[in-house]
Amino acid sequence: MTDKKIYITPDNENKGRYSRQELVLITKFKAIACMILFAVAIVVCLKVARNLNVQGEATAKSPEAQPEPVYKSTQVTKESTASVTTAKPSNEKEDEAAIASKKKEAEKKQEKTKKHKTEVIDGITYVDGILVANKTYSLPADYDPGLDPKAEAAFKKMAKAAEKDGLYLFICSGYRSYYTQTELYNSYVWSYGVKATDRFSARPGHSEHQSGLAMDINLAADAFDGTPEAKWLAKHCVEYGFIIRYKKDKESVTGFKYEPWHIRYLGVETAKKVEASGLALEEYLGIDSVYKED
Ligand SMILES: [Zn+2]
Repeated sequence: MTDKKIYITPDNENKGRYSRQELVLITKFKAIACMILFAVAIVVCLKVARNLNVQGEATAKSPEAQPEPVYKSTQVTKESTASVTTAKPSNEKEDEAAIASKKKEAEKKQEKTKKHKTEVIDGITYVDGILVANKTYSLPADYDPGLDPKAEAAFKKMAKAAEKDGLYLFICSGYRSYYTQTELYNSYVWSYGVKATDRFSARPGHSEHQSGLAMDINLAADAFDGTPEAKWLAKHCVEYGFIIRYKKDKESVTGFKYEPWHIRYLGVETAKKVEASGLALEEYLGIDSVYKED
């Protein structure tokens, strides 16, 4: 038997395995460990507290970052957003109205400048990009382009379509040079006099036929009026880029009497626009057709 007494501790692991001295040591060790843990815990707590304090100080120093001002600024933002939202419709309406009126003004200005945009290139007058040959605007004597290929191709296409409808269209007079026009005009003057001739035949340099963009279809005479071909031409020529150039009741505008056989090539888009306007080309382009001498 030894004097080593066995103490039973609550610790199941150590139950009946250690002497009193050993238990004292273990208890001391546990106490030290607890103290160390406690000290570590305090240090950690202090550090956390310090960090929080630093953050608090920082927030206190920065007014923008303070909770209240942030809330206020949020409110302000909300208020301003609300005011913007409530103000938006009227502003938008005003803006839209202003934009619309500005657009209209711009369009009007554009139309005006469009109507008056006249360019003279190599002696040839273009209004809005459209070649013009009438009593006011002449072509140079040496302007000799021949029949415009696009106009000719458009005519062929149109003639084919007419043929399908049982009608025969042909060009009885297409391109005419300055000199051909001189001979023609002079011959008319010799027969009918200047005044009467000026109603149906252009003076040299003033004929659309010299531009290569105009052509007389089938019969350049009043007898053509009312024929199925004339009716077909009037109805369909615009689909191929042509207009009846000298319309009924437009002599005061075009300077020439009604010629249902005389068509002018403008291209489909422009021809359709002119046709839709119901205006003579002079009216559409805001120009006149009067000889300077008259
Ligand atoms: Zn003609």
